[in-house]
Amino acid sequence: MRGIAAVPSYVVMQPTTLCNLDCVYCYLPLRAVDRRMPPTVAEAVAASVNPWAASGRFSVVWHGGEPLAAGREHLAALLAPFGPAVEHHVQTNATLIDDDWCAFFVEHGIRVSVSVDGPRHRNGERVTRGGRPAYDRILAGVAALRRHGLPFSALAVVSRPEPGLATELYDYFLDLGCDVLGINIEETEGVNTRSNARDAAAVTGFWAELVGAWRRDPRIHLREVEWSLRYAGAVLAGTADDLLPRRLDPIPTVGHNGSVVVLSPELAGFTDPHYGDFSSGNVLTTPLAEILAGAGRTPWVGEFLTGVEACRSSCPYFGFCGGGHAANRYFELGRFDGTETEHCRNSKIRLLEGVLEHARDHESPAA
Ligand code: SF4
Repeated sequence: MRGIAAVPSYVVMQPTTLCNLDCVYCYLPLRAVDRRMPPTVAEAVAASVNPWAASGRFSVVWHGGEPLAAGREHLAALLAPFGPAVEHHVQTNATLIDDDWCAFFVEHGIRVSVSVDGPRHRNGERVTRGGRPAYDRILAGVAALRRHGLPFSALAVVSRPEPGLATELYDYFLDLGCDVLGINIEETEGVNTRSNARDAAAVTGFWAELVGAWRRDPRIHLREVEWSLRYAGAVLAGTADDLLPRRLDPIPTVGHNGSVVVLSPELAGFTDPHYGDFSSGNVLTTPLAEILAGAGRTPWVGEFLTGVEACRSSCPYFGFCGGGHAANRYFELGRFDGTETEHCRNSKIRLLEGVLEHARDHESPAA
């Protein structure tokens, strides 16, 4: 895997910067203000995306802020330029979902992913702008999805890994009815400056326990665990070198104003005296395909690719990880050409160690 691919597999779009919640660990800098994406931005993105979708599976992920805070009428205007082959997803806090939103999802073929951190007592940091718990409103949104028979994914943030938590979470999400689950260990990113240094054994133990819970009832696609098992299987089969894509997916994030940031949605909306606004261009003046073709020339991206090569030559986990996330390097190390971060320790190294720990603890004794 070297360099950046010219064509992404998905695009992240920011219909509004606004979020109606104010979660304690949120990284978004502009979540209190409503800067909306004009339809001209969506039209410009669709001009590149529609041909890509015609020749292979392609997704647009509507991510905020809270994308539903843009309102149905505005979101419909943003969806309109995209052709029927484009798959649409929303990442939502679910608090605004009601019967009308469910009808909207059906009408536009939108797949929903809900952010919720587990049972009520695990959601103390998901709060409204007034600081009140958002949990009941999240569950009301999920209940609407279930009433309408809409499948949904879930995304949970884990801030304090501890024994018993992984089983508790997995059982909760089985009951909740999601069909895909992603787990993020809290990250030091954006305006969230809390340290994400965690006890190594606690994080490894969390992942090992999660594998055990999943194996007892693997009804949910568990994003991190399935990827780890695929990697472990490929190592055993001697095919691990084929697993990572040949080039990094640029994962363009198109901000509300048309500005494009590649590789890390979390960098959108930030500026730095040295790196500027991290943008590789703006779709209102340059076609997205052209921006991505030249993204490798964005100064911080070149520095990041140097860091990926440093990972390749120094880290035994590179074949699994592929060299980490740009935003984690920037927000933890202040630069892009470093290697290990607390994020990669928590979410790559200890994840793989946890899967291996589970395998060691549960392998059958040799005959
Ligand atoms: S685990 Fe960390 S150090 Fe290793 S390749 Fe990934 S980002 Fe680089």
